[in-house]
Amino acid sequence: MVQRIEKIELPTNFPIGPVNVYLVFGVKLTLIDAGIKTEQAWNELLDSLKSLGLTLQEIEQIVLTHHHNDHMGLLEWILEKNPVPVYAHKDTETYLADQAYMKWSGAFFEKLFYEFGLSKDGAKKWAYRKRDRDLLAGLKIEKGLQEGDSVPGLPGWEVIETQGHSQDHISLYHAKEQILICGDHIIDDIHVGIFLDAPHPGEQRAKPLLQYVENLKKCLKLPIKITYSGHGPDIYDLSRFIYTQFERTENRARRVKNVLAKGEATGLDIVKEMYPDRYKKGLITFVFEITSVLDLLIDRDEIFVKKKDGVYVYSLI
Ligand SMILES: [Zn+2]
Repeated sequence: MVQRIEKIELPTNFPIGPVNVYLVFGVKLTLIDAGIKTEQAWNELLDSLKSLGLTLQEIEQIVLTHHHNDHMGLLEWILEKNPVPVYAHKDTETYLADQAYMKWSGAFFEKLFYEFGLSKDGAKKWAYRKRDRDLLAGLKIEKGLQEGDSVPGLPGWEVIETQGHSQDHISLYHAKEQILICGDHIIDDIHVGIFLDAPHPGEQRAKPLLQYVENLKKCLKLPIKITYSGHGPDIYDLSRFIYTQFERTENRARRVKNVLAKGEATGLDIVKEMYPDRYKKGLITFVFEITSVLDLLIDRDEIFVKKKDGVYVYSLI
């Protein structure tokens, strides 16, 4: 039997455009991801269900690919009307609902931004802006998922951990039919953003770009005929996309090294040099981007880092 999957496109106010959520008609009717929390997205979801001959009440469970706003925003409203089990990565509940973690996350980013080269005030301002997003207090994830887990209610589907874009990112793989539902791990023809999440207190942060490259290689090894992405069109030619993504990563690494060829620099110096017209607007996106590229170059022993007055300074080896 061929797995029936319906794609529903919901509007967002993000530059990336609409977000895709999916209905998988397994043993349980499963909604994969939950759009952004706006009236417009909510109405579109209800309308799309209606045009498929369904109602919200018929959804039996929800799986989240990761905790970002545009993938979990409508969760609260859906659960108010239809309190079904929610499945997600084992860390998603922490990122969405743990007040103590959010507090720690603010302090973690304040330090990281300062070490990157932001002023004391700037580091504080940006760190707490990130922290003060909506918390879904009281959200309970039914079961935290990990690599290789099967998905309750969806026989034939398996969890593939795909960290990089976020630390709780999972994809769902149907080996028999060679289908991948990949959230934001892979998006056709755009550079996938690499974000940092604070680690659990007392632990080291992950190096998301290294994870991302490894997880792309992992997907390259899987037989996949069709990939359903969190944004944009379905992907039929996954390996081409993955090789493009490797090239983009190498380009960025090269550009960072070109900046360092002129002399030592902080992370912020590199951001200003590479994105002079754009960095002020989406500063934190660029901080994450460049931090992750610097991780990669350090891992490859191509650059050297030292600390000067509490700020990391990078130079070519
Ligand atoms: Zn995302």
